[in-house]
Amino acid sequence: MKVTAAVLRSPESSFAIEELELGEPRADEVVVRMVATGVCHTDLLSRELPPELFMGPIVFGHEGAGVVESVGADITHVVPGDHVVLSFDACGECRECSAGDPFGCYTFNPLNLKNVAVPPGRLDGTSAFTDAAGEPMGSHFFGQSSFASHSVVAGHSAVKVDKSYALAKLGPLGCGIQTGAGAILNTLAVQPGDSVVVLGVGSLGLAAIMATKVVGAGTVIAVDRHESRLELAKKYGATHGISGSPAEVNEQILGITGVGADHVFDTTGNAELVVAAFEALTFSGQLGMAGVGSPEITFHYVTLITNRKVLGVVEGSSRTHEFIPYLAELNAEGKFPFDELIVEYPLSQINEAAADSLSGQVVKPVVLFD
Ligand SMILES: [Zn+2]
Ligand SMILES: [Zn+2]
Repeated sequence: MKVTAAVLRSPESSFAIEELELGEPRADEVVVRMVATGVCHTDLLSRELPPELFMGPIVFGHEGAGVVESVGADITHVVPGDHVVLSFDACGECRECSAGDPFGCYTFNPLNLKNVAVPPGRLDGTSAFTDAAGEPMGSHFFGQSSFASHSVVAGHSAVKVDKSYALAKLGPLGCGIQTGAGAILNTLAVQPGDSVVVLGVGSLGLAAIMATKVVGAGTVIAVDRHESRLELAKKYGATHGISGSPAEVNEQILGITGVGADHVFDTTGNAELVVAAFEALTFSGQLGMAGVGSPEITFHYVTLITNRKVLGVVEGSSRTHEFIPYLAELNAEGKFPFDELIVEYPLSQINEAAADSLSGQVVKPVVLFD
């Protein structure tokens, strides 16, 4: 089957629209006709990594939303015609997966992120796409490679959602939005009345702020360099918006909360800022980290050997097949308006979408397929 895809052939190039051949699904895979896909920073990460880490020509995209075209013999949770949001893949067999926690899957990185150590495709080295010259083109990025009009998707990645929802806006639930919301609702498990600090209010941070409102958190402090983002954060539930040096942020958090914050959620990856916020936690407070940036972080020993906790946040600790339909339902009820952050682009303008995401001009770009 001929499909149209945005491919990346070298780390420094831009996305090029090409016609590819899509292979048949395996027994545990699903063919999806893409309606829309979010653009997440992880799709653009290969431009920032050392060139020797580039995984070869590949179709990125990991926030797809589409319609099931056909399913492999072992697939029972979706049928052709179902609406699906595409999320990360998991093996389904390791101890974490067996316990219902796919975000902790022992093969999470090889299945989803792909790198030079892992062939860009299935774990056995095969790929779902072939280019016009007959060469394999990397597929299965986060189990889906959604920058394509049609894709062969890992069964676990395909999450069924109700047909009454506007499918084209649901793609970002597959990664960025569920990560921000899940950090608050699942990983940190914020309780009504708790105080929360969110460092960086891009798509993850704003989704987190919206989730604090869902849970009925108390004081919610947004931290960002851009005044316009702080205004957005207040619109969606932040009680305070602050900026400044790490030391100033620490002082302001302590000043506003009096006793320190119960939770800090970081999306910036700025180690100095994270440590300053960590030191503004209560004695039993907890820090959730989803930012990527500084190569190292140093906590002062005496602040760490308290009852405080430092937690990594992978995909918002999401049990995708339950959590994504839940977030879609909240959205339909008007309680989680993440879709207001979306700006839409046609596939032909995917490079503009990427540039607007990196510059911060757009919070959540979504590419639409015809
Ligand atoms: Zn697993
Ligand atoms: Zn992502």
